[in-house]
Amino acid sequence: MTIFQKIIDREIPASIVYEDEYALAFRDVAPQAPVHVLVIPKRPIRGISAAEDSDDVLLGHLMGVVRKVSEIEGIAESGYRVVVNNGAHGGQTVSHLHLHVLGGRAMGWPPG
Ligand code: AMP
Repeated sequence: MTIFQKIIDREIPASIVYEDEYALAFRDVAPQAPVHVLVIPKRPIRGISAAEDSDDVLLGHLMGVVRKVSEIEGIAESGYRVVVNNGAHGGQTVSHLHLHVLGGRAMGWPPG
């Protein structure tokens, strides 16, 4: 079981920003920007690589949740970055799909 599953199950605390039937959004414990929220599906998909065609609606839903989070956090107008780390070279450390929503400052490019 991943740490994110424990957050979904309310076994460990998190600062929850948004929740619906299919998704949960909470603040990253080690924020890399003034706003750093993680959007996850409640269903434990390990990552983008582990998603299936039948997950496409859910994946699209997560993007809609990103938009809602950006509005809740007040960064919809100023802009933000959405990052999905996938696998070893992507830098993924938690094997439960998550979208990083980063904002509140200008982002650099290219990423490291
Ligand atoms: P990644 O490296 O893309 O797998 O991102 C995992 C993210 O989860 C990191 O940004 C961590 O800071 C974050 N994280 C790990 N444990 C927790 C936790 N208990 N609550 C909130 N965020 C966490």
